[in-house]
Amino acid sequence: MKQLTLAKFGGTSVADHQAIMRCSKIIQADNNIRIVCVSAQSGVTNKLVALSKADLSTSQRQVLLQEIKTTEYQILTELGKPASLQSELDALLADLEHLVSGLDSQPSMQIKDELQAFGERMSSLLVAAIFQSQGIDAVNFDIRTVLKTDDHYGRAEPQIDQIKTLAETQLLPLIQNKVVVTQGFIGSDQNGLTTTLGRGGSDYSAALIAEACAADVLQIWTDVSGIYTTDPRLTQDAKPIAELSFDEAAEMATFGAKILHPATLIPAIRQGTAVFVGNSRAPQEGGTWIRKKVTNKPAYRAIALRREQVLVTLKSPGMLHASGFLARVFAILAEHKISVDLITTSEISVALTIDNPANSTQQGIAPVVLQKLAEFCEVSVEEGLSLIAVIGNHLKDDSNAGGNVFAELKNCKVRMICQGASQHNVCLLTAGDQAEALVAHLHSALIE
Ligand code: ADP
Ligand code: ASP
Ligand code: MG
Repeated sequence: MKQLTLAKFGGTSVADHQAIMRCSKIIQADNNIRIVCVSAQSGVTNKLVALSKADLSTSQRQVLLQEIKTTEYQILTELGKPASLQSELDALLADLEHLVSGLDSQPSMQIKDELQAFGERMSSLLVAAIFQSQGIDAVNFDIRTVLKTDDHYGRAEPQIDQIKTLAETQLLPLIQNKVVVTQGFIGSDQNGLTTTLGRGGSDYSAALIAEACAADVLQIWTDVSGIYTTDPRLTQDAKPIAELSFDEAAEMATFGAKILHPATLIPAIRQGTAVFVGNSRAPQEGGTWIRKKVTNKPAYRAIALRREQVLVTLKSPGMLHASGFLARVFAILAEHKISVDLITTSEISVALTIDNPANSTQQGIAPVVLQKLAEFCEVSVEEGLSLIAVIGNHLKDDSNAGGNVFAELKNCKVRMICQGASQHNVCLLTAGDQAEALVAHLHSALIE
């Protein structure tokens, strides 16, 4: 083995038999790919999340289950229904049905993780079988034996050292003569109970496994030909970026370019793994390389948009010259593992934004947190806002960088602006219904 490459295929890349066949071509074309990390079939995780909702009727549950079964059995049928695979898939679907039929009105977060994990578990089973049908010596591997996390269900924290040790003993020996196909998104806690890393977490899983196995390259195969100057669904003028630095890509992921889970670049930066993002439908188009060092570092590189932001404003008359107010606020947020994206302060108030991920069992900010904050300050909450991040380089030092962005904001209702903490971003918060138009405008003014 000259180099070790880990390839991650997202939901659309493994959506059906034809899509998985395209993945097998990518594997066959590159002998260095020894580990494959897959998402659930596109749409399946949304359905699994919906299944755990308390207000669902029995017939609605049946419809969702049936839709999931149809997706999975369709792939099996197109593969020619090999008997052993059929019985493994039957068994997984029977376990899923059993879990769903036993759900009470308020399933725990652990049960929700258990439920969501079926998507990735069925996917890796089918993907490994299709690879085998194409002559690839593939084996399906349960990543929960390696990807250890804490028990913060719904957004579990990986235990890096333990993952490395387990990968060395359980995973690395296998790749000597097999292509290991495994699940993204899922892990297990210290008691062996299933956890998940949060929506979109397969990218993060892939980066963690690549780190643990000291892979040279991490490939993220998705439905667009690399990282673009903005989400290509927002404007036709978005252009693919050939090369990005770790810093720029990490900012893009953090501020919402859905193409990468926000934490993906953290293990890659630690390990120095080069990351490639490409299109499994059109691998020949090339994609984006994310590396430690890049030659071109433009002031404005890309624009990211994150919807469904919650703005929490905390006002304390006592904050005037009072130390400890922010510490108290952040202690409560830390206790509830809530991360803050943007923050601005005045003498007596602080405003902060919190992500409220769609289709997730995670909640932006729970009522109990608001109650605790309300014990010592006035709390107001605004929802339905969008965070726009202009991402680039030397934005702190460039005397025009912020001004150029502000000059484009005429007639926009901007609720918050943050500049100066990072060389790589200028961020603003705007009304949700204005956001897409503003992204397109900023893109044409600053990037094109
Ligand atoms: P996967 O299922 O492969 O993980 P995702 O849907 O999570 O794929 O991410 C891919 C999507 O990310 C694209 O279809 C695109 O709409 C969106 N996206 C957001 N920002 C960007 C960007 N800057 N460049 C490319 N795609 C982006
Ligand atoms: N299947 C999971 C999700 O849809 C993880 C992923 O695809 O990255 O969120
Ligand atoms: Mg994704």
